[in-house]
Amino acid sequence: MALIPSDFIDDLLSRTDIVETIQQHLTLKKAGANFVACCPFHHEKTPSFNVSPSKQIYKCFGCGASGNIISFIMEYEHLTFPETIEQLAEQHGLSMPNKNQSSTTQPHVAPLYDTLEQCNRFYQLQLRRHSEASIAIEYLKQRGITGETAQRFQVGFAPRGWDNLLKFFKEDNHTVKRLLTTGMAIKNEKQRVYDRFRHRILFPIRNRTGKTIGFGGRAIGDEQPKYLNSPETPVFHKGRELYGMYEARKASALTEMVIVEGYMDVLSLAQHGITQVVATLGTAVTKEHVQLLFRYTSKLIFCFDGDAAGRKAAWRALEQSLAELHEGRSVRFMFLPEGEDPDSLVQAQGQEGFKQAQQQAQDIATFLFEHIQQHINTYAVDQQAELIQTALPFINQIPNAILQELLLEQLAQQAKLSRTQLQPWVKQAQPATLTQQKNNTNIALSPLRTTISILLQHPTLAATLQSNTSLHTWLQQSNLTGEAKLIKQIYERCLAYPDIHTSQLIERWRNHPGFDLVTQLAEQSFPSDAQLAQQLVDALHHHIQYMQTQSIETLLAKGRQQSLTPEEQHQLQALIRAQKQTKSKASETT
Ligand SMILES: [Zn+2]
Repeated sequence: MALIPSDFIDDLLSRTDIVETIQQHLTLKKAGANFVACCPFHHEKTPSFNVSPSKQIYKCFGCGASGNIISFIMEYEHLTFPETIEQLAEQHGLSMPNKNQSSTTQPHVAPLYDTLEQCNRFYQLQLRRHSEASIAIEYLKQRGITGETAQRFQVGFAPRGWDNLLKFFKEDNHTVKRLLTTGMAIKNEKQRVYDRFRHRILFPIRNRTGKTIGFGGRAIGDEQPKYLNSPETPVFHKGRELYGMYEARKASALTEMVIVEGYMDVLSLAQHGITQVVATLGTAVTKEHVQLLFRYTSKLIFCFDGDAAGRKAAWRALEQSLAELHEGRSVRFMFLPEGEDPDSLVQAQGQEGFKQAQQQAQDIATFLFEHIQQHINTYAVDQQAELIQTALPFINQIPNAILQELLLEQLAQQAKLSRTQLQPWVKQAQPATLTQQKNNTNIALSPLRTTISILLQHPTLAATLQSNTSLHTWLQQSNLTGEAKLIKQIYERCLAYPDIHTSQLIERWRNHPGFDLVTQLAEQSFPSDAQLAQQLVDALHHHIQYMQTQSIETLLAKGRQQSLTPEEQHQLQALIRAQKQTKSKASETT
């Protein structure tokens, strides 16, 4: 990814409102000048996640997470820095700078989205217009899908033939390349390019923002495979995406989420009014899936076939969920009768029937113990030990202490022990996977850090420093190091961009070793907000005086041991003069 110009990032930040953007994900409540919410990055009951509209930054006093909107999106949506910038740019209708100059191997994704959207429209049109579309429509009708539902999910039709898509795009070189990159076309050994999806009903897979990122296709006839998905591409990652997520969120506020295996299951359930449903994309449930789902709802219901394959897939889902079971969250497992899938069940028994089956879903304890009992060696000499040793590593992963204790009690019961007798086993099996929380200690505020902190939070106060000749002169030295150099850089940035605000300022240090310090200092609160200009000037004066005193004392100490060189004597006198000046300046302003 080519370097993104900082002016462009500044511009994005000035167009984005942190409160508005975070509000799309969390419920923010007004608290004084700020907004608060329960932190999305650690589990809590009382809100310690603060958003400051004036500084355009956030901070969690529980886990220490902090930053501007770019940091938030990166952490919340698991995006990289360039991905985040791109997403923000898109939201504001801006095109990324250096679009065509990008010299990296990573293809630029915006044109890929574009191509996929055109494919999506093309296939939808075929469902309405193509002379052979009736067979697809008939199939959908047979499955009880109305035109309205098909439209909501943007169902399309890929006609027979090898080059429908290629013809539509007129085989222009750039587009063919994009069709290959997005997996919509395939090149064979003879370098012949042909459409991936042929004679299939197509389900566009849309990402969380509604962009088409790939397709799932169901064979209309007896073609194999029955289901065909887009391959992994720069914009499509099966392990991170769920079919129907965008549509489910659009349909209603999410109170729970049913996770099924097929596209038709999603459509069929939605058709019967069960809209809180998504499907995995031909892959097993991943940790990323579970994390993503828990960001939108606290209740997950995994729905699988009742056969061996279904139970195996459910167990895998359980394994991926355990570490995500914070307080208030639950996962349940719904197993369908032999031969049924969600589609057939809801068609036969309607919404009510499906809901009833859902009521009977197993909770985590039931499924966990049932599975373990089935899989432990019943011929083991010590079955009790076998049971405990098998179960504990799973139970130990659960972060919710109450749920964990409940399961331990059940384990004790099943092993025919008292809870106290089980305890030594539990201690032995302590997991080493406690998630590390970010350090939240308030940092010590030296005069230097006070200066940085005030300047970051009130960039316009740079003008105050500028009008103070001695401070301005000090800040213009080229030999400043460490935090003093940091002040100089912040100061210069503030002067160069008089309208800059906190979040833009800290953004400048993202890839700098001082980034964490800068974000923390941007959050530092002061006992009083009064006379911040004065506090700023005093702090910097204080630092300069301290440095002068240090240098003077070093020279004097040296002079007591051996005589000073003429230069050193000269330096000492200059320092003493400067110190006097600083002192008088400091008293002038107080
Ligand atoms: Zn937090």
